[in-house]
Amino acid sequence: MIIGVPKEIKTHENRVALLPGGVTKLKENGHRILVEEGAGEGSGFPDEQYEAAGATVLEEVEELWAEAEMIMKVKEPLEVEYPRMRGGQIIFTYFHFAASESLTEAVIESKSIAIAYETVEKEDRSLPLLIPMSEVAGRMASQEGAKYLEKPQGGRGILLGGIPGVKPANVMVLGGGVVGVNAAKIAAGMGANVTIMDINIARLRQLDDWMPKNIDTMFSSRVNIQRMLPQMDMIIGAVLNPGAKAPHLITREMLPSMQKGTVLVDVAIDQGGCFETSTPTTHDDPVYQVDGIVHYCVANMPGAVPYTSTLGLTNVTLPYAVDIANKGWEQAIKDDPELQKGLNIAGGDIVYEPVAEAFNLDY
Ligand code: NAD
Repeated sequence: MIIGVPKEIKTHENRVALLPGGVTKLKENGHRILVEEGAGEGSGFPDEQYEAAGATVLEEVEELWAEAEMIMKVKEPLEVEYPRMRGGQIIFTYFHFAASESLTEAVIESKSIAIAYETVEKEDRSLPLLIPMSEVAGRMASQEGAKYLEKPQGGRGILLGGIPGVKPANVMVLGGGVVGVNAAKIAAGMGANVTIMDINIARLRQLDDWMPKNIDTMFSSRVNIQRMLPQMDMIIGAVLNPGAKAPHLITREMLPSMQKGTVLVDVAIDQGGCFETSTPTTHDDPVYQVDGIVHYCVANMPGAVPYTSTLGLTNVTLPYAVDIANKGWEQAIKDDPELQKGLNIAGGDIVYEPVAEAFNLDY
């Protein structure tokens, strides 16, 4: 199969869908790989490394789209890319169709085969191609929160880990899933006192067994959250109600009960945010204040660490890509129910119910 890897064109997107190591693997399986000039640059992988691995580096992206039987990307195709998609061509990337009707229509019209990273699903309902990005965002949340706690950054001026004789910071993590656990681990590793709050008691029981002594757990209720707020220095929002907007666990009227310079990191901002006062920000201008409370609400946190994010992403996407390339998409999804869940649109038809539901289209 001919596989094409275009350079990502979304603002501040430095990840790439395939690494030179992935090129070697696909070549060993008998495939031909076309990579757009500079595609890996932002993640620290220059063209020469792709060439050394056996890829053909192309200057002309139109030529790459025209020749490739499978396109591997990171972000959804943007408008300028719509006319490049063609009938029967496999596109393996994050699509998030429910967020864009125009993208959904363009893919339907193109009659291409859209396999979406975000809906590949294991039997236990976990989403293997989303987990690494949640791990990155969770670990970054504490790192960024610690930075914005510094006085010159607008924070309370408290060191997360304290020092001998001076107590460490208090950190509350709302949601004990992938993001929450990774955030808690880093904050606790830096010496903070961490409380993970969740509504899933079975999950809290597990975490109580696994986590170090400076992480405790608490049931997430309005009363409990409210009672904790005056003592907190940093709060990380990491809740998810699948398929729904994030609940507002901290409302605007709760802010005055908190200490000035407390830092809120709303990782759930991509689902609307779990603090009422959250609005999406970017890496260029990541924080703002409301009533003296610092808000960090960057919607694409993994974008700031493209090296780690690219490696994390390609570790999990490559095995599926090899399978699709070796067998063709129809046989690959037949053999693998996980990958089958990733198929969203094929040859002009929506085959993934939530996408059809989002826009009242036929399924
Ligand atoms: P997850 O499903 O692993 O965990 C979510 C947890 O939230 C679950 O344990 C669930 O029980 C808990 N929860 C639900 N309602 C709650 C409530 N009212 N109080 C406390 N806990 C509650 O999800 P995840 O992978 O950890 O993702 C968390 C959020 O982070 C999602 O919104 C995801 O889209 C987002 N995310 C954002 C970025 C970014 O760059 N901003 C990157 C990755 C993930």
